[in-house]
Amino acid sequence: MYSFELSEERKQYQELAKRFAENEVRPLNGKFDDDWETHRYMSEVLKKAAALGFMGLPVDPKYGGSGADGMTIMAVLEELAAVNGGVACVIGDTWFAQTPIVIAANDEQRERFLRPLSSRETPNLGCICMTEPASGADIEDPRMKLKTVKTIVREDGDEYVINGVKIWPSNAGIASHYVVVATTNREKEEEGSCILVVEAGTPGLSFGKIERKMGMPEDQNREIIFDEVRVPKTNLLGKIGDGHRILQTTVTYNRLGAGMISVGIARGAFEYALEYCKSRVVGGKPLVAHSLISAMFADMAMEIDAARLMVYRASWALKKRHPRRAVYSDMAKVYGTNAAMRVTTDCVQVMGSYGYSREYPVEKYMRDAKIVQIYLGPNEMVRQVIGENL
Ligand SMILES: Cc1cc2nc3c(=O)[nH]c(=O)nc-3n(C[C@H](O)[C@H](O)[C@H](O)COP(=O)(O)OP(=O)(O)OC[C@H]3O[C@@H](n4cnc5c(N)ncnc54)[C@H](O)[C@@H]3O)c2cc1C
Repeated sequence: MYSFELSEERKQYQELAKRFAENEVRPLNGKFDDDWETHRYMSEVLKKAAALGFMGLPVDPKYGGSGADGMTIMAVLEELAAVNGGVACVIGDTWFAQTPIVIAANDEQRERFLRPLSSRETPNLGCICMTEPASGADIEDPRMKLKTVKTIVREDGDEYVINGVKIWPSNAGIASHYVVVATTNREKEEEGSCILVVEAGTPGLSFGKIERKMGMPEDQNREIIFDEVRVPKTNLLGKIGDGHRILQTTVTYNRLGAGMISVGIARGAFEYALEYCKSRVVGGKPLVAHSLISAMFADMAMEIDAARLMVYRASWALKKRHPRRAVYSDMAKVYGTNAAMRVTTDCVQVMGSYGYSREYPVEKYMRDAKIVQIYLGPNEMVRQVIGENL
């Protein structure tokens, strides 16, 4: 039987995430915009997140993780994003990078890669390297079968040698493990596709400038250059030819996470704007007493709830291996991210110039919401995929 209620264990994780976000993240929210390059405040936040076991939340306890299930992970993501979407993104991206390892690695690889990525002592971040300068949405498009990838892998004795350039990956330059989507020959499409793990410090791995973005300054995005990077053959996940399948399963597992980050972002903005509008008097009465404003809040509340329910349904479908699990995950991503954009924009609107001001928190939610419509598959591409699956 499926229940919408969170179990006691899930509620404990949710509570832990809420306390962490309120006590360790919210007090720093005014600092992150100037920390985009230095990452000083974020390093402290990540140390505390690791100590609480958040980095290895989805990882099997056998490899040092907490073994939390999908619904718990979603509940945690919502609480983090309700306070700061960028922090949720950085931690969520480590789980994103862990997913191909969880799906396709053998025992030896899981021990070698997942244990450090679950460390409570050191915040070891994961980085999933998909996007390339000439190929963004295409890499994640299931119909393209990785045929536009230009990161090339060749065999040399006991090693694979990687050459290519990735752009935009989260946690680039500060991660301990890089999970790289590549090909041995892109003309072979799926048959040439592969995913390898590159550890930080491997010769030939270097980074370009840190990107300055509209939002999510907590997330560090950089170009990653692979110049004759050599890894042992034991760093290949699955076999050559598995890359496309592993990546598609990975994005299915993570698109609902993008949906939930959006639910959190929307809820955070909504809660602030609602309190503000209860005390702001306009036209002789509080803003919320104006029927038009009240109806706007009703619409926002409905959209946030609907988006959360779609994420929970997708999470349930993944657990059940439901035949429509990929479509449900895609739907949760598109609906949730669009809802967050509408809700955060309306929150700025109802607060007037105060909503637009950096002195108030709502404009940051709006800036953060925008990118989630674009990453993990831009919504235009994902909507086409949903449509083709109907
Ligand atoms: C904060 C942040 C975090 C990120 N994290 C990561 C990460 O961890 N790993 C990683 O590899 N990348 C990451 N990215 C990169 C991101 O995933 C890509 O930028 C995204 O996939 C879009 O690629 P692009 O920018 O090259 O846009 P393009 O592929 O050029 O697409 C541009 C626009 O064209 C439209 N479009 C694209 N495809 C289609 C289609 N098939 N049909 C119709 N319209 C279409 C969409 O409107 C899209 O927004 C991140 C980016 C940011 C800003």
